[in-house]
Amino acid sequence: MARIVQKFGGTSVADVDRIKNAALKVKAAVDRGQEVAVVVSAMSGVTNSLIELTQKMGPLPDGREYDAVISTGESTNAGLMALALQALGIPARSWAGWQIPIHTDGVHGKARITGIDTAEMEKCLKAGEVAVVAGFQGLGPNNRITTLGRGGSDLTAVALAGALKADQCDIFTDVDGVYTSDPRIVPKARKLDKVTYEEMLEMASLGSKVLQTRSVELAMNHKVRVQVLSSFEDKPGTFIVSEDEVVEKQIVSGISHSRDEAKITLLRVADRPGVAASIFGPLSDAAINVDMIVQNVSEDGKATDLTFTVGRADLDAAVKVLTDNKANIAYEKMSSDRGVAKISVVGVGMRSHAGVAQSMFKALAEKGINIQVISTSEIKISVLVAEEYTELAVRSLHTVYGLDAA
Ligand code: ADP
Ligand code: ASP
Ligand code: MG
Repeated sequence: MARIVQKFGGTSVADVDRIKNAALKVKAAVDRGQEVAVVVSAMSGVTNSLIELTQKMGPLPDGREYDAVISTGESTNAGLMALALQALGIPARSWAGWQIPIHTDGVHGKARITGIDTAEMEKCLKAGEVAVVAGFQGLGPNNRITTLGRGGSDLTAVALAGALKADQCDIFTDVDGVYTSDPRIVPKARKLDKVTYEEMLEMASLGSKVLQTRSVELAMNHKVRVQVLSSFEDKPGTFIVSEDEVVEKQIVSGISHSRDEAKITLLRVADRPGVAASIFGPLSDAAINVDMIVQNVSEDGKATDLTFTVGRADLDAAVKVLTDNKANIAYEKMSSDRGVAKISVVGVGMRSHAGVAQSMFKALAEKGINIQVISTSEIKISVLVAEEYTELAVRSLHTVYGLDAA
C-alpha cells in the first residue's frame, strides 16, 4: 500500500475553513487507499505573534522557553486538523513532536533532527488511522521542546517521509509549484514541472523560501520524492528530482533574490598571513555566518580592503565583534551597509556552458546596476547590488535568460 506525507503550510491552514479544506485533500488520499501522515504548520502569522510575545518579556529570552512558546501554533493546528478529519469520518489522532518523539539536538530556535522513533506512528498508520503531526518541533536534551528554524515544518515533513519510508512527500502551499522566480516579484515567472535537488537547494538557500533549505538538503540526501503543489487547486505541482530524471537540462532554471543581506567593509587591513583568520575566527565563534567575500589586491603590499556579507539580522553583532577585536585585526576603518540585496542565477546546465556570467554582468550594466560583490559555485552566480534595484535586476535577468512565460 502506498504511503504519503502531506504537509500544509501556514496559509493553507490559516483558519478553520482552510483546515477543513486541507482535510478534504487528506480524505482524497485516504479514499485512494493511501496511508497518510499529515504535517501542519501554525496558522499564518501565528508564529510571528508568538515570537513578539516572548520579546515582550524582555530582551534575549531563554531559548528553551522561547521554543516552548513558539511551538504552540503547530500544536493547536495538529489538534484542529485531527478534529476536522474525524468530522469527515476519518480516524485520526494528533502527535506533538515530543510524543513521537522526533529527537533533536539542543540548539534552541534551530535544532537539528537526530532521529525519529517511528514505531508508535507505524502502528497507528497500519491500523488505518491518519497521523497528524505538529510541524516545526522536536524533543531536545533534558526533555525540552525545540524548534527547527523558520519554515521548519517542511523539514518535519521530509524527515518523516524519510523515516516512514513514504513513497512521496507532498508540500501543499499557496503557490501551485516552484517557479523560475518568486511569482510575487516576477509576474512573468513560469512554473517548473521538475527541478533538481541541487538547483532547489541553491534556490532555497539563495532566498527562494518556497521550501526551507534544510528540508531540501535532507530530501536530497535521503532521496525523498518531494512535490510542491497548491492546497487551493487540484493539479500537479513541481517535482524535486535527481539530475538523471531531467532529460533536457536548462542552462538557467531560476533567478533567486535575498534581502536578508548586509555588507561590511574593512579599510586598510594589514596584508599579512593570518589576517583573514583574525577576522573570520571571532565572527564564527559568535555564530555569525559570513557569505560573500572579496579582498582587493594591496598596492603597497602593506594594507588591503576587505568586503564581505553577513545576514542582516547579524549585522549589529558582527560590527560589535569586529570593533571589540580591532586591535588584533589591525584595520583603519569599518563601514557597513544594510541596503543591499543578493541576486542569483541558478542552473545545473551552467556546468557545461560558458558565458552565463557574462550575460548577467552585461544585462545588469545595461540597466545601470552596479555590482558590489560577486560569488560563484558550479551551478550558480550571485551578485550583491543596492537593494532598490532588486526587482529591476531579477526581472531583467529573468528576461535575458529566456525564462519569461509566453
Ligand atoms: P508555506 O506557508 O506554505 O510554507 P511559504 O510562504 O513558506 O509557504 O512559501 C510559499 C511562498 O514562497 C510563495 O507564496 C512565494 O511567494 C514564495 N516563493 C519564493 N520564491 C519562489 C519560487 N521560486 N517559486 C514559488 N514560490 C516562491
Ligand atoms: N510556523 C513556523 C514558521 O512560521 C514553521 C513553518 O511554518 O514551517 O516559521
Ligand atoms: Mg514555508
